Amino acid sequence: MIKTIDHFVNGKPMAGASGRFGDVFNPATGEKSARVQFATPAEMDTAVQAAKAAFPDWSSAPPLRRARVMFKFRELIERHMDELAQIITAEHGKIVSDAKGSITRGLEVVEFACGIPQLLKGEFTEQVGTGIDSWSMRQPLGVCAGITPFNFPAMVPMWMFPVALAAGNCFILKPSERAPSCANRLAAVLKEAGLPDGVFNVVHGDKVAVDAILHHPDIAAVSFVGSTPIAEYIYHTGCAQNKRVQALGGAKNHMVVMPDADLDQVTDALIGAAYGSAGERCMAVSVAVAVGPVGDHLIKRLEPRVRALKVGPGTDPEAEMGPLVTKQHLDKVRGYIDHGVKEGATLVVDGRGLKLQGYENGYFMGGSLFDRVTTDMKIYKEEIFGPVLAVVRAPDYKAAVKMVNEHEFGNGAAIFTRDGDAAREFCNGVKIGMVGVNVPIPVPLAFHSFGGWKRSLFGDQHMHGPEGVRFYTKLKTVTSRWPTGIRTGAEFVIPTMK
Ligand code: NAD
Repeated sequence: MIKTIDHFVNGKPMAGASGRFGDVFNPATGEKSARVQFATPAEMDTAVQAAKAAFPDWSSAPPLRRARVMFKFRELIERHMDELAQIITAEHGKIVSDAKGSITRGLEVVEFACGIPQLLKGEFTEQVGTGIDSWSMRQPLGVCAGITPFNFPAMVPMWMFPVALAAGNCFILKPSERAPSCANRLAAVLKEAGLPDGVFNVVHGDKVAVDAILHHPDIAAVSFVGSTPIAEYIYHTGCAQNKRVQALGGAKNHMVVMPDADLDQVTDALIGAAYGSAGERCMAVSVAVAVGPVGDHLIKRLEPRVRALKVGPGTDPEAEMGPLVTKQHLDKVRGYIDHGVKEGATLVVDGRGLKLQGYENGYFMGGSLFDRVTTDMKIYKEEIFGPVLAVVRAPDYKAAVKMVNEHEFGNGAAIFTRDGDAAREFCNGVKIGMVGVNVPIPVPLAFHSFGGWKRSLFGDQHMHGPEGVRFYTKLKTVTSRWPTGIRTGAEFVIPTMK
């Protein structure tokens, strides 16, 4: 009997009644490992009602008490790190050490959320007028929802819910149907940490569940991370329902390699950033822009390294790169490589034919490297989300930055150089949300905020850090006077301070 992954609502597993399920696979073997419930709108409503009922007590608990749940949660996640990493690898395919790294990045957001008493402190002005004081405070929104992608089953939800919960909200997580198990484990650990039932719920599903979130009148805010077309849909639909929405989309992250860069350092950086997690990272570098004479030198260094990548199941401690997430995704990435060849790019390393002994049905492919990619090609314009690096040649810095700025995506970009002037100009002028100087994957730490520009983010606020606190709270400003007994009668002029 194949295992069924249920929802987790009001502190316990909840079976679905839709009769609709998604298949979950082990990408290393190609075997079906489970089926996951697909919720109906009525089931989503059950979760929302549980969250709504839990909100008055949770939101009025002192922030310090909520912070203590986060402290405990942090401790338990550390304790369960190995188990969680195994769960991620079994459904996503990434190597276990990388899965652990991603959980640690999520834990950093929990650590940030532990400081919620400080983060929620408002502002106070004594004597805004004679005998009148004014203060502002941030209050939770109510029930918030998160819709997350397959590629970070722990980290991306943890960009959202620790801040949302610590701020006093209740939360519904709709994880990716391709890697759903981690969410249930996180819910159980939150309960073990002392989170009251109903404050955090997991509802699995597909578009039906997502649409139920977007149209539910009792959901105040939606955080989304995934591909750009869906992000745009979530943003427009959620906003039309008067919800607060932040929707993070896809990416095509460029690394500009200046002629004065240390090419050994650049090669190491590119190998990790382009092929780590088989390129299934929104901050993966998928384009290297070789400026001036750098191109040939770079290809010469990259080629043997890409050929030597150790591809294997995520559980193999020797492996550097695991399989892709699904058969469909593997076919899609291979299709992009076919297309690149047809478009006239030079395929320096072809990873399409890789077969692993003992894992013939797994979704593996080797690293691929294209040279002489141009900006009109589909493999340049679209996000491939696989282990494929495109090298583009640019005559000078200006032409390189123009490429970065004219690309529709604006998640991350890096410059590798020893020239402080070029680096500074890049930081100031580049139209990108997260920028690295000699840092290939400039993911901001939890106490800063994460988000892209252009079609990599729809909405006004980035995730976690100070922007996360603003997203999950609304501002209230109080103006207060305690009359001393003098009655002046009604005033018909707009109040001005005297
Ligand atoms: P996806 O857009 O297919 O799915 C994301 C979520 O949306 C899932 O929960 C899924 O169930 C739901 N969904 C899918 N199709 C839907 C539809 N038609 N209507 C409503 N909901 C739908 O993304 P994915 O393949 O799971 O993840 C990979 C994508 O996520 C890549 O584009 C990657 O760049 C992006 N991503 C972005 C960031 C970022 O921070 N910007 C981080 C991680 C991943």
